[in-house]
Amino acid sequence: MRIAIIDADLIGRKHHRFPNLACMKLSGYWKGQGADVVLKTDFTGLSKFDQVFISKVFTDTPVPEDVLSLPNVQHGGTGFFYDKAAPLPDEAEHHRPDYHLSDPWVERQLSAGGKARDLIYYTDYSIGFLTRGCFRKCSFCVNQNHDRVFAHSPLSEFFDPERPKICLLDDNFLGHSNWKGLLTDLQQTQRPFQFKQGLDERLLTDKKCAALFSSRYDGDFIFAFDDAADAALIEQKLQLARKHTNAVLKFYCFCGYDRAGAWDADFWKRDIFELLFRIAMLMRYRCLPYVMRYARYSESPYRGMYITLARWCNQPSFFKKKSLWEFAESNGRNSACFRYVDEFAAQFPEVLPFYTMKFK
Ligand code: SF4
Repeated sequence: MRIAIIDADLIGRKHHRFPNLACMKLSGYWKGQGADVVLKTDFTGLSKFDQVFISKVFTDTPVPEDVLSLPNVQHGGTGFFYDKAAPLPDEAEHHRPDYHLSDPWVERQLSAGGKARDLIYYTDYSIGFLTRGCFRKCSFCVNQNHDRVFAHSPLSEFFDPERPKICLLDDNFLGHSNWKGLLTDLQQTQRPFQFKQGLDERLLTDKKCAALFSSRYDGDFIFAFDDAADAALIEQKLQLARKHTNAVLKFYCFCGYDRAGAWDADFWKRDIFELLFRIAMLMRYRCLPYVMRYARYSESPYRGMYITLARWCNQPSFFKKKSLWEFAESNGRNSACFRYVDEFAAQFPEVLPFYTMKFK
């Protein structure tokens, strides 16, 4: 049996450097059945295989339509079906991922001058979901199918002792009733671990802070501050977190998405101000914002402000040293960046206090 597995994001997204977990599980399952499995990195010659599986995570990753209608091809994943994506069959879903599926591709990248540090998720991490699901149902999120967080895989299902680190893809880990037991399992591996999708800061408690911030964590603790309406709760939990850690905490700050669905002039102005308000609060607690823009930001009359705020915040080396004004000026007074912030201030002078705030 000859099986080809295609991670379409790897083919269609130039800078994509994260393995597709479904592809690794399918590979593990089919190799376990004695099949000859390869990771295919183009869409040619597929008729030579008995079965071809194509997966993608991102909806805008291109895949040739004619390939999808071939009789030996099956496709799946959120990139094709968003929240209606069917799960893998249980025997594949709960199979240990094949962490070596991408080895030949990784070798080719390295031989072509690729940097090992850009490929660490392929080489260094055990990857999986301890829990899945989320009860919050944010309208912009793919997680719409469950009302709770539930156990998904025991750590032993995807932990590879040969790999030095662990990457968790859980949707809302802190919302699971057994968060403590699962954290203990992670700690017992003595491997640094990270929650790649961020954690729900609004669910922090003294006990969660004590367990989480004393863990051997891999990289920055990442949370989300997606809605300025949560400001009071986010601030209360920041004060709690600061009793336990001085580490720089990172927060995804989602913007450009109108929950009321209007996307009118009022919204675009308010959204920029609310984003600056969130950035200001995070700065006060020595936290780093990471601006994530919903695709429709490009329709905003203040599109340039979104771009500038993302460039400023998402590069901590700038954000930690320069106010927004200083950042814009460092781009040159003739730059588009300076023009965007200057024009916005001319139109809305009340924004100026946000332009001079600095990370301390
Ligand atoms: S809290 Fe996070 S995972 Fe849950 S629905 Fe909202 S964005 Fe999605």
